Amino acid sequence: MQYYSLKNKSIKSSFKQAVLAGIAEDKGLYFPNKIEKLNNKFYNDLINLSELEISFEVMKQFVGKEINSNKLIEILEDTISFDFPLIKLSKNIYTLELFHGPTMAFKDVGARFMSRCINYFINNTNKKVSVLVATSGDTGGAVASGFNNISGTEVIILYPKGRVSDIQEKQLTTNGKNVRAFEVDGSFDDCQKMVKDAFVDKDLKKTHNLTSANSINVARWLPQSLYYFFTMKKFAELNILNKVVFSIPSGNFGNICAGIVASKLGLNIKHFVASTNSNDTVTRFLRNGKYQPNKTIRTLSNAMDVSDPSNFIRIKKLYENDLKKIKNNFTSYSFNDNETVLALKEIFNDYNYIADPHGAIGFLGLKKYLKTNRNNFGVFFETAHPIKFRKTVESNLDINLKYPYQIKRILNKKKRKESIKSYEELKEAIMF
Ligand SMILES: *Cc1c(COP(=O)(O)O)cnc(C)c1O
Repeated sequence: MQYYSLKNKSIKSSFKQAVLAGIAEDKGLYFPNKIEKLNNKFYNDLINLSELEISFEVMKQFVGKEINSNKLIEILEDTISFDFPLIKLSKNIYTLELFHGPTMAFKDVGARFMSRCINYFINNTNKKVSVLVATSGDTGGAVASGFNNISGTEVIILYPKGRVSDIQEKQLTTNGKNVRAFEVDGSFDDCQKMVKDAFVDKDLKKTHNLTSANSINVARWLPQSLYYFFTMKKFAELNILNKVVFSIPSGNFGNICAGIVASKLGLNIKHFVASTNSNDTVTRFLRNGKYQPNKTIRTLSNAMDVSDPSNFIRIKKLYENDLKKIKNNFTSYSFNDNETVLALKEIFNDYNYIADPHGAIGFLGLKKYLKTNRNNFGVFFETAHPIKFRKTVESNLDINLKYPYQIKRILNKKKRKESIKSYEELKEAIMF
């Protein structure tokens, strides 16, 4: 499969190159040369196919011949080795739980797929790939776990000191030797700045093969389209075959963008709702056609505190840069923290379901859309387990959450981290 840079169509790349580099040399995001519809037989059979079989059919065109079929199946089997339950809340509202992976956030799938592809590509070479990632919480945990003890890889995580939750810090700092966690005396933006500095550092380039593991990487982005296929298979089992609307709690818009890819592959999705917190750049863009990011606002749904979503350019491309086409198929709503808390309570009181703040925003977006589209069926993604936002959930619902196994297992592990104050200190630590 060929990819090209969204900044310059003549910059081409294989899947392997795109995964290993993360971003094109002109800093453009990689995009597949073509997206081919899956055939009718596949869709007619969807209900009978296993999640693994579906995953293989969906992912094989994006990988092409660069990974052989048996190996790709093996990688996918490992990638989706947990459940994706669809839970019914009401007559026409469902939620797809994406938090049953090792770090209990939906990013596990992309991180696992990416790490295993890299491992395959550098196997039997004496290369080592260094994955550099700045995190405000969830991404780092998923990447650390996804790459944990994967040979030929080294993960360097930067996180702002005192700004991640205790559980998140445990997830960052209790992995194998190939995962190094750096606690930065500064903000998340400082961490991101260090990552950017590292990518343009000529000394580092000579000694390290650096790649990034956020959702700009095609191997993290594309497997997220599987969630939409898994959902539609489960709806097919309920004999719900059309009028299905997806509401996705969105930050960098990678997850929802993968849903649009799924519909390009022929999956019958009626409409997309991008539900955001107060960081509402896309909501405003759809209203007035002007893309004007504001300063990022801190919210309760902090994994979505993004004001300039990096994947939005891919979304525009998928709709041929036509605002009218976007609006026909895609809506965006924004909700503040007050509304988020009220939604947590409503979901708990009315449907006896415990959501997390991100899922609650997905619920709000869905409800708003269904108000004017009453005969539709809707699903919102639950992108993180409520335990990851324990304080918000427990205090507002007046309950105590039980620790799931994935969290219990790391609570008593000893944290292993290095503390740094500047880029120079980071560089010294990773060069020597
Ligand atoms: C990353 C994340 C999101 C946002 O996903 P995007 O693909 O960046 O839009 C939503 N919820 C949770 C819990 C996350 O970790």
